[in-house]
Formats: sequence, structure tokens, C-alpha cells
Amino acid sequence: MYNPTPDKGSNPNNQPDAVDENQTADTQAISGAPSVGGSNTPFSSGRTATATAVASAVDISRITWKGSPNHWVGRDNNTVVAIVNHIMQGTMESTNGWFKNRRSEVSSHFGVAKDGRIWQWVRVPDAAWGNGIPESPDLSLDWLADGLKRKINPNNLTVSIEHEGNTGDTFTEEQYQSSLWLHKYLITTYRIVPDRKHIIGHYQISAKSRANCPGKGFPWQRLMNELAGIPTPAPIKQPSNTPIPPNTNPINSMVDMKWIQGVSGVIITDLGVKTINTNNAYVRSKPSLSGTDNTLLRVLSKGKQLRFSGYTDAGPAFRGNVRWLLISDLDDGGWVHSSMVS
Ligand SMILES: [Zn+2]
Repeated sequence: MYNPTPDKGSNPNNQPDAVDENQTADTQAISGAPSVGGSNTPFSSGRTATATAVASAVDISRITWKGSPNHWVGRDNNTVVAIVNHIMQGTMESTNGWFKNRRSEVSSHFGVAKDGRIWQWVRVPDAAWGNGIPESPDLSLDWLADGLKRKINPNNLTVSIEHEGNTGDTFTEEQYQSSLWLHKYLITTYRIVPDRKHIIGHYQISAKSRANCPGKGFPWQRLMNELAGIPTPAPIKQPSNTPIPPNTNPINSMVDMKWIQGVSGVIITDLGVKTINTNNAYVRSKPSLSGTDNTLLRVLSKGKQLRFSGYTDAGPAFRGNVRWLLISDLDDGGWVHSSMVS
């Protein structure tokens, strides 16, 4: 972050900003969520972590979801190629307040506290607003030079990690270990090359106003030494035709968290393709029968086929039926009452 000015930058394809009407501040708990790799074995954060340990299982329950309205949904068909490290110039709490404020136009995917807590504000498949203003960028970074040539906002190519404290602060051991763990997690999950060309500081994108982000206190040498042995394995695959456990995490989820927050009893499971059986079927941002709560997203016609990825039996009753179905994000997401679908 470093300076309290927008890190959003322009997005050439004029992608709309995210709508966060369903985000509930500070209530999205993911503790207890199943680990990504299908096992609850914690991912080793010690120096002795082996390639197998890194590749097999990651317990992401240590990440606390916070949420920020400041992001673009999706990455304009780009994928993550690099991690950008930042210093908060403040505390986790002050940074959280800043990221929750739409007018700041700043956010980060993750933040790591001095006591080792890890908070998340933006899903990795979405673009946070941390690195969008290139000023004398480091063009020896091929991916950055190439992206800028093609007018790609660096936010669409990067995942941001903020660190609590002020520029020049020495990291606590807890903060270092959590950041190391998070780097390993992102490297293995998103196949990021663990070298200094793909794990960079904000100053390499914005050399002037962000010259001290993350600053001299950042433990580059130790971090890179400990990341050096990590191979970049194939990403963890989510089975597409078997049920996905509930409480999917906000990082790898096949369902955007915005559909789930504030909705009771959501079961995430692949329901396959279903057909809209009535004209004027309302798709809503959450189960609702209201005509005035701004939950209406779009209207579907009879015969439309959609993929569905979950349901709740705790929605408002319509004709005595409380089941609402969640449309897959592959078909733009949203909720529709089950009586409209067959
Ligand atoms: Zn920064």
C-alpha cells in the first residue's frame, strides 16, 4: 500500500467494478473449512518442508476472510503470474478499514500481521487494487514488460500480500513464518515460479511513489532462500462431477463467496444442468422475494439451460417451498427459486 492514494489504475477493457452488497463485514469465518488438498494435515511452514509436503495438502483454515469492495471480478482472462509484496504503513486494523472504504480504491488479496494472523480481502481469481500504477516499472521482468506492452493492468497479473508495520521494520518471526507459508501456498496453488522475477516488491512496479514498499526491512534473502527448493507442481484439481464439500474456501472455491455470504444453510454441490421452466424467472443475488431490496440480477426465459452448483433449504418460502438453487459462476451465478427449475 504505502501511500494512501489509489492503486487501482485503469482497466482497458472497462470491466465493471465489483458489487459487494452481499459481503458482510468481518463475519465470514472459514475456520473449520476443509483443507484444499482433501486432508487436514497442516502444511508445514518450517525450513524442513519437503516438496511432497508442499504439494500434498494445505490447511487454509488459518486464513481469515475479510472482504473488500475494491476489486475487479475476474482478471480479464489473465492468470496470476507473480506475487507482489507490500508494507502496510500501519496496522492490520487500519488497513482493513482502508480496504473496506470504497473511496480509497485500494486493496490487497492478503495481509500478514506481526503476530502471524493472515487476513484476506479479495479472492485470488479476482484482481485486487494494489499494483495498478506503473511508474518506471522494472522492465527486466518479462511478464510485466509484456503485459504493459499489451496494456494489461498489472493488477490482473498479480496477487498482493500486505505486511503489517512500517517500512524498515524488521519482521517478527511469526510474521515471517506466516508470509513464508502464504508464499508457498500461492506458489504451489497458482504455479508461480519461485524466483525473484516472479516474487517482487511493489517498488518494482511503481519505482517512485512506492520506492519504500515493502522497504528495507523485507526479508528478501531469507524468503528466497527458503522458497528456492520448491518445485511448481500441477495445480490442485477440483473434481467437477462429484460433490464439493460445504464451506468452500474463498481462495479456490468454484463458487464466488459473494453468493454465499449472509445466506443460511448453503450446500455446495454440483447439481448439473437444469432447465428454466417458466418465463420471467428472476435471478437474484441472494434468496429473496422482495421487489425492493435490489437483489434482482436478471430475468431468464423458459427453456434456458444453466449449470447449478448448490442450494439452500433455508430461503424465503414461495408457494410453501423454501429451496433455492445457486447458479454456477460458469453461468454468471445468482439464486433462483427451485420451482422455476426442472
Ligand atoms: Zn505497496
